[in-house]
Amino acid sequence: MDNTSTYDVIVMGGGPAGSAVATILAREGRSVVLFEKEKFPRHHIGESLMTDTYWTFERMGILEKLRQSPFVRKYSVQFANPGGKESRPFYFFEANHHESAVTWQVTRELFDQLLIDHAEEQGVAVHQGVPVKQVLFDGRRAVGVEAKMADGSLRTFNARVIIDATGQSAMLSNKFGWRIRDPKLKKAVLYSYFKGAHREPDLNGGATLVLRTPPGSGGWFWYIPLENDVTSVGIVADPDYLVKGRGQDLAKIFQEEIDKCESCRRRVEHATRVDKIYSILDYSYRSKQCAGEGFILIGDAYGFLDPIYSSGVLLAMKMAELAADSIHDAFKHDDFSPERLGQFQTKLDKGIESMRKLVYAFYSDGFSFSKFLQKYPEQRVNIINLLIGNVFKDGIDEIYGPLSEFAYIPPSLYEEIPQLDAVSSNVDDSSQPNGNRALSAKYTCYDDALVQESHE
Ligand SMILES: Cc1cc2nc3c(=O)[nH]c(=O)nc-3n(C[C@H](O)[C@H](O)[C@H](O)COP(=O)(O)OP(=O)(O)OC[C@H]3O[C@@H](n4cnc5c(N)ncnc54)[C@H](O)[C@@H]3O)c2cc1C
Repeated sequence: MDNTSTYDVIVMGGGPAGSAVATILAREGRSVVLFEKEKFPRHHIGESLMTDTYWTFERMGILEKLRQSPFVRKYSVQFANPGGKESRPFYFFEANHHESAVTWQVTRELFDQLLIDHAEEQGVAVHQGVPVKQVLFDGRRAVGVEAKMADGSLRTFNARVIIDATGQSAMLSNKFGWRIRDPKLKKAVLYSYFKGAHREPDLNGGATLVLRTPPGSGGWFWYIPLENDVTSVGIVADPDYLVKGRGQDLAKIFQEEIDKCESCRRRVEHATRVDKIYSILDYSYRSKQCAGEGFILIGDAYGFLDPIYSSGVLLAMKMAELAADSIHDAFKHDDFSPERLGQFQTKLDKGIESMRKLVYAFYSDGFSFSKFLQKYPEQRVNIINLLIGNVFKDGIDEIYGPLSEFAYIPPSLYEEIPQLDAVSSNVDDSSQPNGNRALSAKYTCYDDALVQESHE
């Protein structure tokens, strides 16, 4: 084992955000150690990528491995209304004529393993099965971490920068009480996997489908084709509708919902469910700050946005790149202040807000992309740019004026609600309130094994 305990950068968490930032920094000359509490492979949700992840994959030097992977290729997204009427597919190549207009649908066990192995290959000291128990501070400055090693001993590691990529555990934003919850975006999720479900031929076979459930449910099904003829199918809906008062039998609830959604039902009627029912209660949230003295938050540890457009991994990747750039800048100026490390927050938040507005549009009563595009056909390219993940594009905001005629477009999260979670002074990971898990004892958050099985 590598016995070094002082590095340029410590990364906590080996999901897409952690592996990406660690890889980029190591390839660009920094010494990096990464701690992941699980031993991979491990289950995780978040399978449909957005095409703009391409540019981060390129910087990580992992594109060729993805091209060689068994992952299904994704060319488009398609929506169906509650009556089952389907939109024309939104092909990404309508707005982008580069190879990057095609991306992948990924089984996260394999994808996250590929990323963390790649990080190690690129020079990152990777420790799997090793949780960080606490971040060590000298006054307000983060100076290191205490990790629980495989033999059970606690060991201290030091670095100039600590990156929190712990996903929804959000170790540091919980510690500082920085987490702001989105007032409306609270959903319950049930999902599982099917073999032999319907697949369209050719390009459309790899599409992500968003199939709306009947009015009043506030919900939709995702339908994501994976390799080996497996399809990921999940329903996202208002908790009061989906789970409240419906008992413990999640498989029964899931089947009832499939039966109510014609466009989902006909696709899985001859398929076999090959996994248990997983459940999540998810809350969209963001941290008030993305950096402090000597530390940065990225990925879900910074913020989580409703999964309707599959933006989670894309935002994690973008944050990894922005954080890597600001860390290089901090070393150059020997300045690890929150201002320098968090210099990207304004740009980042603008991008997240663009996506958030489109999320709110989707959940607005009676909203449909087809109706919107009938009146404003010239906005199709802006919709596709958002579905691609091109959220930092100049001028992307011009869509929201026309869109506000059809949907509620919210002010920014910080303007809307200055409410913060309670401040915790304890950073011991085992005692951290998890933002989503804390909502209910019954439905837990997935990165702490949200794996609630149905009572079958
Ligand atoms: C229902 C649902 C559907 C979704 N669908 C999509 C989708 O289709 N496409 C998409 O792009 N995104 C989707 N997402 C979002 C996506 O799952 C996340 O945004 C993405 O995984 C974030 O990556 P991350 O690296 O920040 O966090 P994670 O992937 O959660 O990784 C965090 C890692 O940190 C580790 N960790 C935690 N605490 C510690 C500690 N103390 N010490 C060491 N390690 C620690 C965890 O074990 C974990 O491996 C979905 C989310 C939900 C809830």
